[in-house]
Amino acid sequence: MKRQITQELRAIYPYAKSRSGDFTQSLMELGAVVCIPNGSPKCEICPLSFLCKSNQNNTKTELPVKTKKKPRKKEDKTVFILIFEDKVAVRKRKAEGLLGGLWEFPNVEGEQTSKQAKEQLKEWQISGIKLTKGIVKKHIFTHIEWHMTSYLVVCENCNDDFMWVSKSTLADEVALPTAFKMFCELF
Ligand code: SF4
Repeated sequence: MKRQITQELRAIYPYAKSRSGDFTQSLMELGAVVCIPNGSPKCEICPLSFLCKSNQNNTKTELPVKTKKKPRKKEDKTVFILIFEDKVAVRKRKAEGLLGGLWEFPNVEGEQTSKQAKEQLKEWQISGIKLTKGIVKKHIFTHIEWHMTSYLVVCENCNDDFMWVSKSTLADEVALPTAFKMFCELF
């Protein structure tokens, strides 16, 4: 459609520079005050009504055809704020995909119960002295909604799978995306 309209406009656009600007302005003005896409078009005062197919076919209330927005996909996540001594665990996300290559707090897909969260800690070879259910947050991207539950874990040990950073390093040197920054208040 864009290509077709471009071709058709090219055929009628005035060549003189000063007039081509006026022509563009007139089209924009027409769309802003006469042929209004989000209201009733004012065909009775439209200078193009004699040319307009939509006016002739009486389809003006059906146009423009807008594609329906896809509903956002919802994903549950469980975020772990793992604290060892005065440090918290962060890691880098995979290079590809959403928030690719950025830092995050360790997290897994799905909303985990405390029991599942303890199992997850075992998998990471981390012993937790204390595990507390943390805050629940929602983060909205264009196409996806993350529903994030969290656990605050005071750890007995750390591991090499994560980078363990102090509060000041986290604030100054680790650029966390907003989706994860929201959990900083737990640390
Ligand atoms: S006549 Fe056509 S171009 Fe003019 S306002 Fe009506 S629908 Fe829009």
